[in-house]
Amino acid sequence: MKQINIAIVGTGPSGVYCGLQLIEEFQKTGSNAYSITFFDPLPTLSTILPTGNGRCNLTFAEEDFKVFASNYPRGEKFLYSIFSRYLTRETIEYFEKIGIKTFIQPDNRVFPVSQSAKTVRTQMISALKKGISVKFCQKIVKNPEELDTYDVIVLATGSKDRHSLAERFGHSVIPLVPSLCGLKVKDKGANFPTGVSIHTQNEGLIFTHVGISGPEIFRISSINAKKAYPYDIEIPILNPDKVLEALNETPKKSFGNIISEFIPKSLTKYLFEKYGINYDKQGAHAKKEEIEKLQNLIFTVTGPDGKGEIVHAGGVLLDEVDKNCHSKINKKLWIIGEALDIDGFCGGFNLQNCWSTAAIAAQDIVQRVIQNP
Ligand SMILES: Cc1cc2nc3c(=O)[nH]c(=O)nc-3n(C[C@H](O)[C@H](O)[C@H](O)COP(=O)(O)OP(=O)(O)OC[C@H]3O[C@@H](n4cnc5c(N)ncnc54)[C@H](O)[C@@H]3O)c2cc1C
Repeated sequence: MKQINIAIVGTGPSGVYCGLQLIEEFQKTGSNAYSITFFDPLPTLSTILPTGNGRCNLTFAEEDFKVFASNYPRGEKFLYSIFSRYLTRETIEYFEKIGIKTFIQPDNRVFPVSQSAKTVRTQMISALKKGISVKFCQKIVKNPEELDTYDVIVLATGSKDRHSLAERFGHSVIPLVPSLCGLKVKDKGANFPTGVSIHTQNEGLIFTHVGISGPEIFRISSINAKKAYPYDIEIPILNPDKVLEALNETPKKSFGNIISEFIPKSLTKYLFEKYGINYDKQGAHAKKEEIEKLQNLIFTVTGPDGKGEIVHAGGVLLDEVDKNCHSKINKKLWIIGEALDIDGFCGGFNLQNCWSTAAIAAQDIVQRVIQNP
């Protein structure tokens, strides 16, 4: 059988995992007539180091592929087929096989037992080096012609490819916009409670110098990533039934102090000032419309806070790849990971997109080259 030369552009999580899965798939066929060459100006897997604040949130423990895919504001339907074939179980099994033991947190996020992205990187690189023929070329690929000598090309360029290699291969790229980021808000007004954090009815939120941030805001920024600025948001922070209960129990207590039982005092003071409500009046005199106003945080968002987004919405148009991430435009090409127009919420979803698209592409590549040598 002729030697198959494979180029993988990008040594982020998706590129490296694709290399590892290619090694697995070739091993199953008993063939070692292949070579893998990685191209990237950055050190291998350097983009995995900051993940999960250095702890690397590898994935999310959920077996139902449709429920899993519902965590992707972009890519949900496309991922059904991919996730139905390769999801958390397969990923965890593979990581265990290469010595990365994992555990599930109470919130279902999956981390390595080492709680170290550095260790994950070391283990993945050492598994890669056990491959038959793996080479690393520390350079940027600017043009498709540079890869003419390869039989198979995998684009795993993430969302920051300044040379837009996918476009040069003839693909349409949906413009990139920040997702999972903090937000700037308009008219913060006096006494904005900078530094204060709260647990909303969903997740955590922190007030910053320019607006709001934290997991709840990342989620909102992701859902609204493609929306034009400015836009309005409403975040539930108080349960009106519980507030009414407290008002009835202690009607003589000040309205402000009653609300401060539920949210930090500085936030209460800020909201009372914003809505012109008297902090010191007795709870018995609180009006229904005042309680309604306090129920939600309401802001006009003017843009991302510029503090470094975690992922980007946008990327290669999903209609231009098949269910195995194989390009419909160039037969030699597969596109995986964040280079595709796929992005998910925080919780391990973005890395799982990398692992699953990489594994499915690797299976497809090996099947094709074995069937059509
Ligand atoms: C601070 C932070 C924390 C995160 N934490 C988590 C987390 O805990 N869990 C989670 O699921 N997700 C997390 N993410 C998201 C996750 O890191 C990304 O989704 C993931 O890295 C995407 O992997 P990728 O391989 O597709 O692309 P990337 O990681 O972006 O890698 C692409 C690589 O391609 C290279 N490249 C690009 N263009 C070219 C070219 N023309 N020629 C050669 N090389 C090229 C780049 O240099 C880069 O190394 C986090 C992201 C950030 C920024």
